Amino acid sequence: MDDQSHPQLLPGLQVLERGTAEVQIGLDPRFAVVAGGLGPTVIEALRALDGRRTLRNLLEIAGEHTEEFKALLAALHRRGLLREADPKNRGGETGLWALRAGHRDDRERARRRQCAVAVRGEGRLATAVAALLATAGIGHIDVIADGTVGAADLGSGLAEPDLGTARRQAIADAVHRVDPTILTTRLFGDRKPDLVLLTDAVVPAPEVLAELMAAKTAHLPVRIRDGIGIVGPLVVPGRTSCLTCADLHRTERDQSWPRIAGQLAGRAQQACLADVQSCASLAVAQTLRALCADREPPPVWNTTLELDAFAGTVKNRWWPPHAKCQCRAR
Ligand SMILES: [Zn+2]
Repeated sequence: MDDQSHPQLLPGLQVLERGTAEVQIGLDPRFAVVAGGLGPTVIEALRALDGRRTLRNLLEIAGEHTEEFKALLAALHRRGLLREADPKNRGGETGLWALRAGHRDDRERARRRQCAVAVRGEGRLATAVAALLATAGIGHIDVIADGTVGAADLGSGLAEPDLGTARRQAIADAVHRVDPTILTTRLFGDRKPDLVLLTDAVVPAPEVLAELMAAKTAHLPVRIRDGIGIVGPLVVPGRTSCLTCADLHRTERDQSWPRIAGQLAGRAQQACLADVQSCASLAVAQTLRALCADREPPPVWNTTLELDAFAGTVKNRWWPPHAKCQCRAR
C-alpha cells in the first residue's frame, strides 16, 4: 500500500462506536473487528476509509498516531476487510459480495461480465432469476421460454403491459430494464452457456436433460414443490451426480415415482411470491458460487437446498451418484 493508494473498507461494513476510544468495524461475529485505546484522530481516519482519500491524506488525519493507524490498517487487510478503491465501482454488487466471497470485486465484476447463463423455464421463477442475474452483472443471459405471458407470470419482474406478449421477449425486456447492455441472444451455438438454470418445472423434461448431459453442460434445477423452494443438485456432467441418479434413488424409495415424474415433466407449478423470490435469491447466490470455479464446491454440489420460507428453514439433502446410473459420476 503506497502513499497514493486509496484504501477502502469493504462496502457494507460500518465503523461503530462502542465506548470511549473503542470502535467496532462490521457486525457479524465472523467478520467484525473491535479495536480499543484509539486516539480520536485514528477513529476519524478510520471513518474516512471510504476510498476517496489517499493513504497519505489518511495518515495526515491520524496525525501523531500514524503508527497506530498503520497497525490497524494492517490488521484489517489481513482479515480481508480492506481493499483498494476502484473509482469506477463504489460499492457495487460485487463489492458487497466480496465480504463473503473474499474476491477482489474488480476481478469478480469482470468475470461475471464474461459469464453466459441460460434460464430455461416458463413461470415466475424464470423471470425472477433472470432479473437477479442481470442485477448481479452476468453479461449474457439467454432466456429459453415458450408461450405467452399470462396472469400467473406476473409479479416477479413482469407486469400487466406484458400480458399476451411472447414470454421469452418479455423476460429479455425485464433483463434489459436492469441493464440494456446485457446480451440476450441465443446461446448453444458458437457460445455454450456456463450454466443452465432449469426453473419452474418440478421435474425438468427428460429430453432437455439428455441434451444437457450429451453436451456436458452444467445445469441447476430451481423449482418450487408444494411451497418448498428446491435449488439443486448442481449437475456438472461426469463430476457430480445427475438428475437421473436422483430419480433412481427416489424410485428405490417409491416404485411409483417414474409414473409421477412422467406426469410432472416440463410442467411449471405455481407458487406464491414469497416462495418464488426466496427460492430465486437462493438459486442466484448458488449460481454465483457455481460460476466461480475456485475454492470449494458450492453447497448445491450433489445436494439440494430445500427452502421453506413459511417455516423459515433450509434443509440440505444429499444426492450421491447412483451405482446404476450411466452418468459415470464418482
Ligand atoms: Zn447419474
